[in-house]
Amino acid sequence: MEIIMPNVAPFMKHCLIGGKEVAAENGKMIALTSPSNGEKIADIAAGGAIEIDKAVLAARAAFDSGDWSRLSAMERGRLLHSLSVKICDHAEELAKLEAMDTGKPYSQAQADVAAAARYFEFYGAAADKVHGETIPFMNGFQVQTIREPFGVTAHIIPWNYPAQMFGRSCAPALAMGNAIVLKPAEEACLTPLRIADLAMEVGFPKGSVNVVTGLGEIAGAALTTHPGVNFISFTGSPEVGVAIQTAAAINHVGCTLELGGKSPQLVFEDADLDAAIPVLLNAIVQNGGQTCSAGSRALIQRNIFEEVVDQLKVGFEQLIAAPWSEDAHLGALISAQQKERVEKFIAAAGDESAPLIARGKLSENAVDTGHYVAPALFAPVAENHLLAKEEVFGPVLSCIPFEDEADAVRIANDTDYGLVASVWSSDGGRQMRIAKILRCGQVFLNVYGAGGGIELPFGGVRKSGHGREKGFAALHEFSQLKTIVQNHG
Ligand code: ADP
Repeated sequence: MEIIMPNVAPFMKHCLIGGKEVAAENGKMIALTSPSNGEKIADIAAGGAIEIDKAVLAARAAFDSGDWSRLSAMERGRLLHSLSVKICDHAEELAKLEAMDTGKPYSQAQADVAAAARYFEFYGAAADKVHGETIPFMNGFQVQTIREPFGVTAHIIPWNYPAQMFGRSCAPALAMGNAIVLKPAEEACLTPLRIADLAMEVGFPKGSVNVVTGLGEIAGAALTTHPGVNFISFTGSPEVGVAIQTAAAINHVGCTLELGGKSPQLVFEDADLDAAIPVLLNAIVQNGGQTCSAGSRALIQRNIFEEVVDQLKVGFEQLIAAPWSEDAHLGALISAQQKERVEKFIAAAGDESAPLIARGKLSENAVDTGHYVAPALFAPVAENHLLAKEEVFGPVLSCIPFEDEADAVRIANDTDYGLVASVWSSDGGRQMRIAKILRCGQVFLNVYGAGGGIELPFGGVRKSGHGREKGFAALHEFSQLKTIVQNHG
């Protein structure tokens, strides 16, 4: 496949505040480097408290003046739809930016940009379909509920899916009439910046969409503690999630937190293995395993354990990590730090409590200055091993045997996380029995795929966070109910 490199590197990108490009007042920039080869691709503004304050004020002005919030729901929906079309018009440019910035294979970046467009399509179409209720009450009274935006919503997103996360977090907030301030991750933020430019081009009012780039502990912390913010949406690590929830508590605002997982796929003896095996592989290799909903644990019934592991071994040995332009199974991981973290997990395993069964390969173009990790398969992993409990956020699959249904559920629920799970079985009763007692936010039956389903409410329990994104549920998260009681006599 021939990919023409975009003529963008290296370039400079400022914050978008009140419809204008704004440099950080301290003049500082952060260099973005390519995960594929370590070369610099852009300088982004190192925004701080000053830029965050300007952005929150700009959002507040757009909201209070009514330029944005008093547009009818239909008009807001049309703007979101126009942005969806614009993203599709710029799909190639955005996919290349996304692949360069994150290191992911080009076709994955293309899928991510299509998903970003789909978020704006879905929420654009939904904007005028959210309504309240009338409630039967005492004679002489009329009671109704209406859904109102919060005002200014803050969005902190991670580096693994910058384009998709922009859509997932911001589109429903905008659909409900909130004005937004986005702080993308400092490791990868080029597509959110570009999509925000496109939002201005299609006519979003100035100040309705603001983006401040910068370090998490500076710009992110300034945004989440800003008293002018009325709601926070965060996707990232559990540690930072605690800081976000604390900041939200201090300012008496709500938040949604999506904090990752250790998601299991339960494979029973009556499963269709031809269907299951490729999905088990893909669920851990997609995006180099740097996915909150990665299927990082394969729980396999003991009497088919060897057979399944043998098949996974064949699959793993064929996997190749390569520069994004080679469009292989996976690309480089996001950073040297992330590579080191994943390799530490791999190095800490490999003994009898977690034997290493197979590794994928690195492409000959996977240069040392890139952050490549060959996928690793471990089996059988002891139930209390780090690899069975901790989120690695890399291409590492842990296979764990189980005896029967009860044992499978016990192991599946035995981590601090609870985001996604799947059950592979041809027994419909078993599928539903297990779906109901798994502690997580999404269960897939004979399929696995949180990433694709924009219509499907998504979110976790316990250390995976709380609140629901995607689907109509997100529109409810980004709005509040008001009850109006009229005494009409
Ligand atoms: P990861 O470990 O995947 O990088 P983080 O939770 O550190 O996850 O980062 C996710 C997002 O949170 C990024 O946009 C990052 O800049 C931001 N962030 C990091 N630290 C803070 C903080 N103290 N306050 C607010 N945002 C933060």
